[in-house]
Amino acid sequence: MLGPVLLAAARSDSIRRLVSAAPVTRPMVDRFVAGEQLEQCLTNVTSLTGRGMQVTVDHLGEDITDRSEALRNRDAYLALTDALAGAGLAEHAEMSVKLSAFGQALPGGHDLAQRNVLPVVEAATAAGTTVTLDMEDHTTVDSTLAILGQLRERFPRTGAVVQSYLFRTEDDCHALAGEGSRVRLVKGAYKEPADVAFQNKGEVDKAYVRCLKILMAGKGHPMVGSHDPRMVAIAQNLAERYGRKKDEYEFQMLYGIREAEQERLVAQGHGMRVYVPYGTDWYGYFMRRLAERPANMGFFLRSLVSR
Ligand code: FAD
Repeated sequence: MLGPVLLAAARSDSIRRLVSAAPVTRPMVDRFVAGEQLEQCLTNVTSLTGRGMQVTVDHLGEDITDRSEALRNRDAYLALTDALAGAGLAEHAEMSVKLSAFGQALPGGHDLAQRNVLPVVEAATAAGTTVTLDMEDHTTVDSTLAILGQLRERFPRTGAVVQSYLFRTEDDCHALAGEGSRVRLVKGAYKEPADVAFQNKGEVDKAYVRCLKILMAGKGHPMVGSHDPRMVAIAQNLAERYGRKKDEYEFQMLYGIREAEQERLVAQGHGMRVYVPYGTDWYGYFMRRLAERPANMGFFLRSLVSR
């Protein structure tokens, strides 16, 4: 029951101030966020790539409220691109961006986000790496996929994310399963209404498997974004069934979650990409991680009240 409450709280400014100021928050945040500054993030990225992982780095900064923040986020990504290239990490570390951090939710946001993300994708391509467009709540899907389509005309390796909890996603998978396409399939992390999304975990899981089949049978590069052992096993079976070699798909998991499983997949020779968020604006990301897992929530709430 607390999951939806936390997802609503993820978008509340007053709760943001309360949680951000609580001293107990810090150690929990450190588990999921690879540092507030770029340097700390790079140290973590270097450690992960040194252990055979691939990485996708997210500079945290979603749901901005004015255009200057969008420019700051764009510049942060340009600095990140330079830093990854300068550290010789571009081959193994790409970037994930949320278009809301580039102004998508502001008036005229579609065009604004498209304008702001373009230089980042250009710089990433010049540096020898790629960008994946994260997917946010269902109201943004059409805009995000339209921007993806535009970007892919010039930068075909730009990655997409689809969420199995949305009814529309099987159709989106069919549309995105073509040659050269990189598609991360996730279950979905936002609070969505019953007229657009499955509400029941069993149904979300079944939809995830149907979407996986479409992507594995297709011609693109599926990116299996899940910590769920059943989804990981099913992905391996489907990859075998459709004759995919290990470099023709990859697993993706979040920084700090099921690290032993990440290591195990690498040891088996699988592509394993870790999603590494960093930056000071960690609140929304952090609350979604709490909402996903009752044990995380319980631990956090107990530490808040026991002080
Ligand atoms: P679940 O059924 O939720 O979890 C399976 C098991 O994984 C749990 O039993 C537990 O052992 C472990 N686990 C899962 N979550 C946690 C946690 N927070 N803490 C500790 N253990 C946990 N969502 C979007 O909406 N848009 C995106 O762009 C997006 N990008 C993502 C990128 C990556 C690489 C990943 C892995 C996820 C992303 N997500 C995104 C989040 C996703 O939608 C899910 O909310 C999240 O992955 C939990 O679902 P699950 O598939 O891991 O399965």
